[in-house]
Amino acid sequence: MQHIEEHIYSWYALSKGFLNLSSPTFENLVFRFVEGACSLSKNAKLVDFERALDKFRVQYLNEFLFRTIATPETVLFMDKFKEFSEKKKKQKKDFVEIFHILNSFYKTSVGGTYIGIPLLCSFEKDIKNAPAYYNRWFYDQVMQKRKEFNIDSNKCVVCGGKSTKEIIIGRMFCPAECVPSCNKCVVEKTDVLKSYLASTEAYCIPKAPAGLVKHLGDFFKVLISFSSSDLDNLKDIRLSLDEHGARVLHENKLLKSKNIEQAKEISNLETFQGRMLEENRDSQLAIDRMNDVQEKTSRQFLSCEKAYYEIRAKFQVNYRVLDDLRRRYQDSIREQWRYYNILKERGIVL
Ligand SMILES: [Zn+2]
Repeated sequence: MQHIEEHIYSWYALSKGFLNLSSPTFENLVFRFVEGACSLSKNAKLVDFERALDKFRVQYLNEFLFRTIATPETVLFMDKFKEFSEKKKKQKKDFVEIFHILNSFYKTSVGGTYIGIPLLCSFEKDIKNAPAYYNRWFYDQVMQKRKEFNIDSNKCVVCGGKSTKEIIIGRMFCPAECVPSCNKCVVEKTDVLKSYLASTEAYCIPKAPAGLVKHLGDFFKVLISFSSSDLDNLKDIRLSLDEHGARVLHENKLLKSKNIEQAKEISNLETFQGRMLEENRDSQLAIDRMNDVQEKTSRQFLSCEKAYYEIRAKFQVNYRVLDDLRRRYQDSIREQWRYYNILKERGIVL
């Protein structure tokens, strides 16, 4: 894809238009009718017309009538619709006629029409899958203008030879701002081309918010860096991205189941840790109990020690008393011996 900005601008404008379709305007109602009509094939049967008309009435018309106030335009549309509905014995040509009449209420929608079909009918929500809308932007309307200016899309605007490409003479690559040219000529903005450009101003692609353009532009540049260019290749890239996505998804699944296993292991470890803590608590209780015993023993030892010292003190007192008695006894013996010796000297004893 060569015109990334144009692609983003046109897709964004269409996506906005698509979102706006939910508002109950007459323009939207008519668009819904045209959308239904465009979905019919060339060989549509009477029953197909009937079904399309019925779907339009149930899905869009009833709600529109409920939510809006009648205007001359809507009254006219409804008159045509009612007139047809009340008709008995409808034939295919009657359906073709009423579809033609009701289609004629269509004035415009975002992006105009491309070969009779509003561009908005082909809106693709996924920008990766969206066709190059910028090539078809107000295509029918611009072709009409070209006719007025005598510009033939098959002929070079300079030499009148066979055209080979579209050349930008405005700001963006879209029918409104391009003209057909051959490979040899250099297109210059003549007065005619200037007035052609002025006349197609309403058919140019509106700009999108700069932030969005940058974001999407980077995205497309990445895609284009993989491939040489156009949308078909982009689709291939998308497929390979999808494949890659599937692989990532598969890996994710594996990681998820691993995660579950690990969570189980963690839970087991937590249970084990809980048990250890419990056992620890038991050990702590045993230690506390042992500490109590030790304290009691130490208290008992202290009181034993105290008793020992008291006994020892008593013993020492008794020992001193005994020693004194012993001394006095020896003194007494000595005294008796002295007395004996005196008696002996005096010859009182032999
Ligand atoms: Zn030429």
